[in-house]
Amino acid sequence: MGKRDTIGVIGGGQLARMMIPAAVNLGLTIKVLEEAPGMSAELAATGVGDYRDLATVLAFAETVDVITFDHEHVPQTVLRELVSRGIPVHPGPDALLYAQDKILMRERLSELGMPMPEWAAVESAEQLGDFLAEHGGRAVVKTPRGGYDGKGVRIVTEAHGADDWFLALADGEHGSALLVEEVVDFRRELAQLVARRPSGDVVAWPVVETVQLDGVCAEVIAPAPQSAGKLSDVAADIAISVATGLGVTGVLAVELFETTDHRLLVNELAMRPHNSGHWTIDGSTTSQFEQHLRAVLDLPLGATGSKDAWSVMVNILGGPAHGTLSDRYPAAFEAHPIVKVHSYGKEPRPGRKVGHVTATGADLDQVAYEARGAAAFFAD
Ligand code: ADP
Repeated sequence: MGKRDTIGVIGGGQLARMMIPAAVNLGLTIKVLEEAPGMSAELAATGVGDYRDLATVLAFAETVDVITFDHEHVPQTVLRELVSRGIPVHPGPDALLYAQDKILMRERLSELGMPMPEWAAVESAEQLGDFLAEHGGRAVVKTPRGGYDGKGVRIVTEAHGADDWFLALADGEHGSALLVEEVVDFRRELAQLVARRPSGDVVAWPVVETVQLDGVCAEVIAPAPQSAGKLSDVAADIAISVATGLGVTGVLAVELFETTDHRLLVNELAMRPHNSGHWTIDGSTTSQFEQHLRAVLDLPLGATGSKDAWSVMVNILGGPAHGTLSDRYPAAFEAHPIVKVHSYGKEPRPGRKVGHVTATGADLDQVAYEARGAAAFFAD
């Protein structure tokens, strides 16, 4: 094995940013290829470049020992060229494919026998109409690629409800099918975070509950209330099977629905640190960011136990209408001294994830009160 103390992260968002302190603490060098000036991870950026451009990515890769990601959008052609030149890429293209395309993900997880919503790949309004007829006249339609935070997800009740997306797909290079799913009657949404290293070891954190507002993660409770025992075992088994079955290296988040009849169904996958795991920075023995670095370097993984009985993470969505997050520090810190605030160094903008807060402790009501109260200081 070659030298392995310089990590290259493609993408300069908040996930790359939160890998920086983890790398610093381990004495590793971290370099970031940001896609625009002034992004969250600018502190470790070596420059600005287009992650879709092979020459740019190759030049960046030559300066590091291993490549990993802030997001899943680096094209397969670029990833495969890196691999063919012997550059370690984690997660690798064969795994990342299933986080890039929701139809391929559904096909592969079906082969692995994972529990999922009923689904189909549809290429026309007629096929969508057939699915609707078989599923009570309602369905969730998703664009297979490029969706995030609820963009590219739509409930339809008629066969022509996704005509604009069919048209847009026909113009693009990503095939012509949309993913259609039954509308799951869920009790709540959960997320199971695991990490896997190339040699095969996998560890799981406790399953968490995620609360979404308008398709965006607003709050995470760790562990998910009433998840002790079977539920947490089933969630961990699913995510470990997915990580192993797809050969994921690094952190994998499996978003799950808990149905009203208490089944767990896989919604989607993220192969990188994930919003559902931000609580681990303050609430777990090993944060997801440190674990991701350990995993991509094929180092022994850290313990995933919680430091406190409960952790609640609340996203700061939008941020203050005037001024910066730090303008609010005096009042927030005064009122909530147990809460940890994480700023992503972004300009406040409606709906944008600009930071998060985490509280931990023995009593869930108290911890939730602290975290929600602190987050409210950063909203207007
Ligand atoms: P994104 O890629 O934008 O995160 P998701 O596939 O996670 O898209 O969908 C966003 C949200 O839409 C989910 O968190 C969930 O609340 C809702 N959703 C997605 N699929 C379904 C489904 N089959 N049934 C019911 N709700 C769904």
